[in-house]
Amino acid sequence: MVRAGGIDLGGTKIEATAFDDNWAVAETKRIPTPQDSYENLVDALCEMVVWLEDVSGSKGLPVGVGIPGFHSKRTGKFLTANLLASGRTVHQDIIDKLGRAVTFENDCNCFALSEAILGAGRSYSSVFGLILGTGVGGGYCSNGTMISGLNGAAGEYGHLGIPYTALKDLELDGLQCGCGRTGCYETYLAGPGMSRLAKHVTGNAVDAQIITTAAAAGDPQMQEVMRMWSRIAAELVAALQCTVDPDCIVLGGGLSKIPDIDRIIAQALPGILLDQTEPPEIIIAQFGDSSGTRGAALAATQNVEILGEAL
Ligand SMILES: [Zn+2]
Repeated sequence: MVRAGGIDLGGTKIEATAFDDNWAVAETKRIPTPQDSYENLVDALCEMVVWLEDVSGSKGLPVGVGIPGFHSKRTGKFLTANLLASGRTVHQDIIDKLGRAVTFENDCNCFALSEAILGAGRSYSSVFGLILGTGVGGGYCSNGTMISGLNGAAGEYGHLGIPYTALKDLELDGLQCGCGRTGCYETYLAGPGMSRLAKHVTGNAVDAQIITTAAAAGDPQMQEVMRMWSRIAAELVAALQCTVDPDCIVLGGGLSKIPDIDRIIAQALPGILLDQTEPPEIIIAQFGDSSGTRGAALAATQNVEILGEAL
């Protein structure tokens, strides 16, 4: 029996997944993300909600949508890159069109919730989900509850600044980030950022896979790249410790698939974290690409339980 549905709104595709009573994937459907008009984007999302209702046989099925961006709870407007929805009230427009409740949440928060309740973080009460991919995103859950904030932006540590002392130690410049700010963690910590560090050390911007393989094989230049990268990662863990002090940090995204990446980060923590403090456990996510839809479905289920949001 289908218990909830999750929809992942991406820049190129929209994926809907129906989950059974054990939170296993029952059915999945993918369609291209409409690029021509906002109205077609809303129609496509509505089509996926209706498909999930049909699969489950229930009009009241809890359905959540994970979105790549922020969603102001005050104005209802979206802030998102690469989609026609920026500045629009997508959530309300879908509710108006379908006449039913649908939960909306930042996709990084959905990842964190999925891992905190069902995945690698399920035995911890305070879980930070950190996605290291083409960008850096994150989300925080306390006792199985997502702390998303006014805009769903809580946990977006990729856009905090790397401390000046770390940049100085590593002889790095603060770089312009895609968000418009300068010196964000994302500029060096995401996959393209690791390549920038390689360029800094060797003159060549090789990709993360080559860097980490060569470093593991003993290449001194690539080991230097990894030393710099892990120092920046450790600074981010220190920032997390000083704000939410999580029991564990669950790593997701493309870089989380690098062998030993959890150990590489953990070994860089001494001397960077506050003196005498316990470090958080650094662990790898259990779910791969289905984390976003599973987390969105979980968020929808929680809203139904807490708020009675579904019709
Ligand atoms: Zn930024």
